[in-house]
Order: sequence, then structure tokens, then C-alpha cells
Amino acid sequence: MSASACSHLDQAGDVAPRSDGCEDCLRIGGRWVHLRMCMSCGHVGCCDNSPNRHATAHFSSQHHPLIQSYEPGEDWWYCYLDDLAFLVDGAPSFAHP
Ligand SMILES: [Zn+2]
Ligand SMILES: [Zn+2]
Ligand SMILES: [Zn+2]
Repeated sequence: MSASACSHLDQAGDVAPRSDGCEDCLRIGGRWVHLRMCMSCGHVGCCDNSPNRHATAHFSSQHHPLIQSYEPGEDWWYCYLDDLAFLVDGAPSFAHP
């Protein structure tokens, strides 16, 4: 798990989560299992174990490659383009309470 393996960290912005839950599920009344936050724009989407997989859908439509877990106690990042999970030293954790 090394940040140096991902070359897309420059696409991570100074973002804050835009919602407390998956904003797409909230709009359609869907349910989610785990939440992921886009590090380019702050979009909060649901994981691939969720029925609607909005985090992956967000990557597909917006091409924002980096997400961070939005689950309590988790601060790992994931890059869709590299298919790589890693940790970023000193990065803020946005896990909701
Ligand atoms: Zn990458
Ligand atoms: Zn969702
Ligand atoms: Zn995004």
C-alpha cells in the first residue's frame, strides 16, 4: 500500500463531503451498504456491494478516479484507474461519525 504507485493524486482536490449519505440513493430512495467519497468533487456514493453502485457510476460518468472510504474508522483511498487501494499519509479522514 503505497501512494507513490498512483499517479492521479493531483486530481484530489480540497473537498468536503457534499452529503451525509449516498446523494444518488437519497434522490431515488435507494439503500446503500457502504459509502465512498469522491476526492475530486466531494460526491458521496455507495460502494460496489450496494445495489446501485453509485460511487463507480460517478467515476464512469465524471471520470474522477479517486475515492476515499466514508466509513467510520476507515481512511483508505482507492484509484479506479489503477485499481489500487492505498493510504495517504497526513490526508484528512472524512469518515462520518
Ligand atoms: Zn491512480
Ligand atoms: Zn447510491
Ligand atoms: Zn467526483
